[in-house]
Amino acid sequence: MRGRAFTAILACACLLLPGCPTGSIDPAQGPPEPGATQAGSRYTIVTTTGMVTDLVRQIAGEHAEIVGLMGEGIDPHLYRPTTQDSARLMQADFVLYSGLKLEGQMGAALELARKQGRQIVAVTDGLPPDEIRYPSGAVGHPDPHVWHDPVLWGECARRVAMALGEYDPANATDYSRRAAEVHAECTRFHEHAAQVLGAIPEQQRHLVTAHDAFEYFARRYGLTVHSVQGITTESEPGLQDTNALVDFLVDQKIPALFVETTVNPDHLKAVIEGAAARDWEVSIGGTLYSDAMGAPGTREGTYLGMLDHNVVTIARELGSTWEGPLSFFDVAEDSKMETENHTTAAPKLE
Ligand SMILES: [Zn+2]
Repeated sequence: MRGRAFTAILACACLLLPGCPTGSIDPAQGPPEPGATQAGSRYTIVTTTGMVTDLVRQIAGEHAEIVGLMGEGIDPHLYRPTTQDSARLMQADFVLYSGLKLEGQMGAALELARKQGRQIVAVTDGLPPDEIRYPSGAVGHPDPHVWHDPVLWGECARRVAMALGEYDPANATDYSRRAAEVHAECTRFHEHAAQVLGAIPEQQRHLVTAHDAFEYFARRYGLTVHSVQGITTESEPGLQDTNALVDFLVDQKIPALFVETTVNPDHLKAVIEGAAARDWEVSIGGTLYSDAMGAPGTREGTYLGMLDHNVVTIARELGSTWEGPLSFFDVAEDSKMETENHTTAAPKLE
């Protein structure tokens, strides 16, 4: 849990710094040349979503000040940079965003910052092209929701380390060591999730949500996703989509659907009412974090905490028969206690 503790320490440290989070760069002077950072001097990284902010914070550590633009409950598909955000982008040394057209309304602001000489990198840039989904209904629009697959997100950690290491070679080994830690933690999380979700009975492996954010998650864990809206929330759901989903719920006798913290739940109301009109009662099976993390300072306000909440909620509602703890953190806690007990109980060697 070293990475998360580290994130928490940094977040606290940031609150105490007078120059943070607005950054310390004088716009008149512009950013330093790549590689010009020295021990003790921190550069400024502006990030977009909470997931990217969490990732970059763990890897950049004490070497940079991180300014995250999007907070709890913000829909990144619809997010438009404020005047202050644009100023922050222009003053940043480095901008790291999620990419794959997730930040659909930020393209112009990012392009402008790039033209002004800012280093701008998408954390999903280095992913193998055959891992990226291109849904048939959205021509040329990749599915951006990569963070729901912890295996792919672990790869994104390496991309961040590479980008920061090129910019700040003096600390490159720090970045790659931390990326390896994040990668390992993502792998451990994935192995746990695979067990918990693998124990959902075959006929119940359907995930019904407001928008199509969980295809990478579903692909990794063998679930099928059905949603009212497509891979972006930028357009309103059509009547045809709603009716098709109602048909599916009634025909397959699906008992529960999931709401998302960043999407208007009204979109699902029409589906629930449509099913009720055909004598099939569908309940809300809980809230999932799709495109934003939870409140800062809570477990759901961290990347793995957000994913864990989703895994536990889905496993519980879809009837996983897994007998161990559903939460990754309970498993981690148990194994920590076991190690501690083992250490105290072990006979002392003279
Ligand atoms: Zn989305």
